Amino acid sequence: MRGFTFPGIHSRVVFGAGTLDKVGEEVAALGHGRALVLSTANQADQAEDLAKRLGSAAAGTFTEAAMHTPVEVTERAMEAFSAAGADCLVSIGGGSTIGLGKAIATRTGADHVAVPTTYAGSEMTDILGETKDGAKTTRRDVSIRPEVVVYDVDLTLTLPADLTVTSALNAIAHGVEALYAPDANPVLSLMSLEAMRRFKEGLPVVAREPGNREARAKVLEGAWYCSTALGYITMALHHKLAHVLGGSFGTPHAETHAILIPHTAAFNAEGTDALDGVAEIFGSVGGGLWDFARDAGAPMKLADLGMSEADLDKAAGIAVQNSYSNPRPFNEADIRELLQAAWEGRRPA
Ligand code: NAD
Repeated sequence: MRGFTFPGIHSRVVFGAGTLDKVGEEVAALGHGRALVLSTANQADQAEDLAKRLGSAAAGTFTEAAMHTPVEVTERAMEAFSAAGADCLVSIGGGSTIGLGKAIATRTGADHVAVPTTYAGSEMTDILGETKDGAKTTRRDVSIRPEVVVYDVDLTLTLPADLTVTSALNAIAHGVEALYAPDANPVLSLMSLEAMRRFKEGLPVVAREPGNREARAKVLEGAWYCSTALGYITMALHHKLAHVLGGSFGTPHAETHAILIPHTAAFNAEGTDALDGVAEIFGSVGGGLWDFARDAGAPMKLADLGMSEADLDKAAGIAVQNSYSNPRPFNEADIRELLQAAWEGRRPA
C-alpha cells in the first residue's frame, strides 16, 4: 500500500458557456467593487468588453501582459492598479496574462479572478515564473493562486489552431508529471488520466471544427483537470527541461512543451509504471503521444524553434546542474540523447 496526502483544491471554479457574465458576481462575492482587468495587447478588445460588462465594478484595463511575466511590465501594471484605485484583479487570457495577475496579487495581496482562454493551465496553480534582465525565476506560494477561476468555453472558440494544439499538449504535460510525482495522489491521478482521454477524443474534433462548443468544452474541462494537477504536485524532468530551454534559449513556451512531452514521457516510462494509463489511452507512452501530437499538427522538432546542436550540449549541462525529483535517474548523456531526439523530431519507441 502506498499512502498519500490530498492537499484539497483551493480555488473556486465556475465552468460553462457564457460564464463571462458571471465574473461580476464573483468579484462582488469576494467583497470587491473595483477590478483592474488585465490582458495582452492582442486581447485588448476582450478586456474592454469585460470591463463594460463589469460596469461600475471595473476600475480600468491594463493590456500589456507579455510572455514570461517581465518584471518591468508588472511594475507598470502595479502603477495602473494603484492609479485606478483598484481593489482586485481580473485577468482574461492565457498563461501570460494570468501570470501578470498572479504577480500583482502576490505583491499586493489583492484577490484575483482568472478567466483562462488557452489550455496552458496557469490558473489553478500557485506557481509564478517571472523574468528580469533576461533571467527567469519560478517560485510557489499560496498568495499566487487565483481565488476564483471562470472558464467560459465561448472564449476558446477563437483560440488559433496552433495555440489550441500546443497549449493542449502543455496541459497533457502537467497531467503526465502529476502521475509520477513524489506527491501524486489518487484524485489528481484520476483527473490527469480523464483529461488525457478528453484531449485524445476532443482535440481531433476541435481541429476539424474549431467552433464545435461540445468538443471545446470537453478539452477545456481537461485543461482544468491538468491545471489543478500541476497546482498541487512537484514538477520533474519535463518541466525542468522546458524551463531550461525557454529560460536560456528563448524557445516559445507552449511549443517547447509540445515537442518535449513525448520524449520526456518515453524516458520516464522506463522508470515507473505510473504512466501505464497513458499507454492505454494513446497506444504507448512516447510513441503514442508523438503520433497524437503529429496528427494534431503540433511542431515536432526543437530544430524548428531555432535551437542548434551546440545549444543541446549547453542545455544538457544546465539541466543537470541542480538535482530534482524524477522517477528515473538520469545523467547528462541521457539528457543530451533525449534532446537530440527532440531536436530531430524522432519518434520515441
Ligand atoms: P499566452 O498567454 O502567451 O498567449 C499567446 C497569445 O495568444 C497571446 O497573444 C494571447 O493574447 C493570445 N490568445 C490567448 N487566448 C486566445 C484566444 N482564446 N483567442 C485569441 N487569442 C488568444 O500563451 P499560453 O501558452 O496560454 O501561456 C504561456 C505563458 O504561461 C508562459 O509565460 C508560461 O510560463 C505561463 N504558464 C504558467 C503556468 C503556471 O502555473 N505558472 C502554467 C502554464 C503556463
